[in-house]
Amino acid sequence: NENKKHNFGAGPCILPESVLCQAANAVIDWNDMGLSILEVSHRSPEFESVVLKTQLLVRELLHIPDSYAVLFLQGGASTQFSMIPMNFLKGKSVAAYLDTGYFAQKAIQEAKHFGTPVIVGSSRDKQYNYIPDYYDVPSEAAYLHITSNNTIEGTEQFEFPTQGIPMICDMSSDIFSRMVDVRKFDLIYAGAQKNMGPAGMTMVIIKNELIDTITHEIPAMSDYRVLEANNSLYNTPPVFAIYTAMLNLIWLKDQGGILGIEQKNIKKAMLLYKEIDENPLFYGLAQPAHRSRMNVTFKMYDESLEKVFLTFATERNIVGIQGYRTVGGFRASLYNALPIESVQVLVTVMRDFAAELG
Ligand code: PMP
Repeated sequence: NENKKHNFGAGPCILPESVLCQAANAVIDWNDMGLSILEVSHRSPEFESVVLKTQLLVRELLHIPDSYAVLFLQGGASTQFSMIPMNFLKGKSVAAYLDTGYFAQKAIQEAKHFGTPVIVGSSRDKQYNYIPDYYDVPSEAAYLHITSNNTIEGTEQFEFPTQGIPMICDMSSDIFSRMVDVRKFDLIYAGAQKNMGPAGMTMVIIKNELIDTITHEIPAMSDYRVLEANNSLYNTPPVFAIYTAMLNLIWLKDQGGILGIEQKNIKKAMLLYKEIDENPLFYGLAQPAHRSRMNVTFKMYDESLEKVFLTFATERNIVGIQGYRTVGGFRASLYNALPIESVQVLVTVMRDFAAELG
């Protein structure tokens, strides 16, 4: 596609062109069946094999042990904010939360419907530009909830100290971008619309032992026991999102898997942060040790130039770099499918802009 923009959008975001082509073909005629993927029963053997294959790919790519279930659900990562306390906070007095930004705050708000969230660390004092340490996690807490990558603020957590209580992590914006040791977590969840596939599906990786701790009544669609027992097919799942995620994970495997893509992601992030640090017009928002490789947030020293720069970049086919409304400035998201050439273009545009002003 000659018309293709350099897409730095935060999500839904860029997907590999080959995945889009295969998905488009399947919408017209899936596997020469004379049917669209959109027309096929979710209980057909063909689609059940898509679910199975997608689960196997997830397990293989992330090295997930058999003691975990992999679920494909609906409702976005935001539904997990309430499902987690609904399933695990009941009967316990508190749950621990690390407050690292906008989405962590949303998770904390939802927990209040079911019990008492205790904030064990917060970076609110510095506009969430770092990941706080957390030492005093109450041992009676039902779980500790963290957010590995803060999509809006542009910070990422690289170390995951375990606490002796269930560890729950929102990995919506960095899942599949780097290797993590799944065994350190009891539940990982992620909205699919960044590195996994199109919007409409949420992945949950949950330790079977954690499911076994649920004993109270919960509405079926929010009950991990029901969803796991039905292998994500309790009701009609997001068929097209799961199918396209499968194609995307096959693409990821062809890129050398997570270790392969991680090296590319490090290079892309280093290239852009280097320019932000060297270019006299720009500065980065996150503290260097906590800079996200997926969402790079930056501003201009002269705020009045930001609109001018945005137009300058847009005219050069760059889209999606406007910062989140509460943060301002810019956010360039460098998800797996974004080629390093796009980052190179952005860096050149930043340099050219400085030179023109110079
Ligand atoms: N958590 C994080 C870290 C996110 O980036 C997002 C959305 N981008 C969400 C939660 C909410 O996800 P959803 O829109 O799928 O509910």
